[in-house]
Amino acid sequence: MEAARLSSLERLVDGLGPAELYWIAAWSAARAERLQRGDAAPASAAKAPAERLTILYGSQTGQAKRVASLLQARAEAAGLAVRLVRADAYPQRDLARETHLVVVISTQGDAEPPDDARGLVEFVLGKRAPKLPGVRYAVLGLGDSSYPQFCAIGRQLDERLAELGATRFAPLGEADVDVDAVAAPWLDDTLEQARQVLGASQPARIATLQPVPQRAAHSRERPFHAPLLDNQAIVARDAGRDVRHVELSLEGSGLSYEPGDSLGVWPRNPPALVQQWLDAAKLDGEHAVTHDGRSLSLRQWLTDERELTRLSRPLVAVLADASGDDELARLLRPDQSAALAALMAEYQPIDLWRRHPCAWSAEELVAALRPLTPRLYSIASSQKAVGDEVHLTVGVVDYLAHGERHWGAASSFLAQADDEQRLPVYIEANERFRLPQDDARDIIMIGPGTGVAPFRAFVQERRETGARGRNWLFFGNRHFGSEFLYQVEWQAALRDGSLHRLDLAFSRDDAAKVYVQQRLREQGRALYAWLQEGAHLYVCGDASRMAKDVNAALIDIAAAHGGHTHEQAREWLSDLLQQGRYARDVY
Ligand code: NAP
Repeated sequence: MEAARLSSLERLVDGLGPAELYWIAAWSAARAERLQRGDAAPASAAKAPAERLTILYGSQTGQAKRVASLLQARAEAAGLAVRLVRADAYPQRDLARETHLVVVISTQGDAEPPDDARGLVEFVLGKRAPKLPGVRYAVLGLGDSSYPQFCAIGRQLDERLAELGATRFAPLGEADVDVDAVAAPWLDDTLEQARQVLGASQPARIATLQPVPQRAAHSRERPFHAPLLDNQAIVARDAGRDVRHVELSLEGSGLSYEPGDSLGVWPRNPPALVQQWLDAAKLDGEHAVTHDGRSLSLRQWLTDERELTRLSRPLVAVLADASGDDELARLLRPDQSAALAALMAEYQPIDLWRRHPCAWSAEELVAALRPLTPRLYSIASSQKAVGDEVHLTVGVVDYLAHGERHWGAASSFLAQADDEQRLPVYIEANERFRLPQDDARDIIMIGPGTGVAPFRAFVQERRETGARGRNWLFFGNRHFGSEFLYQVEWQAALRDGSLHRLDLAFSRDDAAKVYVQQRLREQGRALYAWLQEGAHLYVCGDASRMAKDVNAALIDIAAAHGGHTHEQAREWLSDLLQQGRYARDVY
């Protein structure tokens, strides 16, 4: 194929995920067959809106995308014409022309849309949204009930679409972190409704639209048990906390990843925490418990199957109910969301249980606790540099509170892993957090603490590919002496030319705190110039404070150095986000 055509094709498919690419592959194959047969009929695989189910998704960690892709595959298998679109690739003018629309969207933190759906959510909730009398719709929200405003974005969209005159054809679904418990039955019902409303008008199954089966590989549901290759502390002993560099082998797994992707890890709860529960609840760990048709010892349920380190709203509700405690029940009222958020941030489930003990049987305890879910770690390596390995940067959560030791499930699982162990893992692709296709573009990376992980992967990748653009890293941590993660590697990268600029902010070395955003402001002129020349900007790490403060600093920088008002600077940054030139991997 000639270079110009190839380049337009690459632009067209830029940012599409495997499901869309397989769809295009099948569509192109059908078109090629028709051309070979000399069939002049237009290859209009994409149905007119009137005959089609549109599935829109907004996804930060890939879960909403996974569920939306599943719905697409099942709807296509049922003979419906479907188009699956990521929210930021969706032409908003199409909205009023849809007849059947399903939205699968996650809520980040308390009430934030995923980055890929910011524009769409703003549009639908805003004044410019069109009336939608001809649209029938269904919304599935994904969220985490350890945040008080659980599934807020899904709820807002569901209400707003009705307000705009659209008709709900399936009720709002609200899936918690054990997504499939709600998503699976919701998909069944919604698909059945969609078949009823669309089925009659559908032509026979469109064979060319079947997705090409994906390579059998390991997945969230079928993790690969990866041997541990290395597990070492990368902060000094006197740092006061533990951060680990962990290396696993993916050899023989068929798994591959791109810089920006995450590794999903299915943890096991720390044995000492399981024992705390058995002691506090006065239950026998060897007692066999049958739940959901499976029989395991209580110890096994608590170790491998139940969430013990994150408090959730449903658990607060169950405990409020069982204990009859009015104060706890009051926290569940809609006007108490800040107090509930504070409670969830401070306490783990065991703390609340100790304050409100219930005389539960082992069966009741297993039923009350949420299923354990995998944790995502930003991958800290490039496969071009490390082959079949995958590297992680793990901040170990282990602290004393309320008179007891507390742990993070996955970080302590990883920190305690030894050479004999295999860890259940899978790859979670993150299409929104990718190096620029054009390797001549500069990149600016902001990653304090363990948020630096994906940037180790970025720099490795750009070194291996000989990328022409410059790489600028902003890193921060508490102390230069004890917590300069990967210091030797960054210094080597500066020497070998794979890192061009490094700005550091150590927050606890001097009386006054210094954070990365201060360094951004100090370098504001150069930073703005890099962005004006087309640089891509990446932020990884803490979402609750750091990412917001960095965002505010970027707006100030654009105002100061671009001659914008603050409102214009905000729009400029939001444009960068829309263009995929400002990507965030934060939680
Ligand atoms: P941390 O110690 O919490 O923070 C690293 C540095 O950032 C410290 O120097 C800290 O200073 C400083 N900091 C605190 N508040 C800040 C603010 N508002 N703006 C800028 N800097 C600020 O680092 P960590 O323990 O490694 O944790 C990093 C966070 O990133 C965790 O929340 C982790 O879950 C998250 N993370 C997310 C991803 C992802 O989303 N893919 C990947 C990796 C890590 P002081 O403590 O001195 O105030």
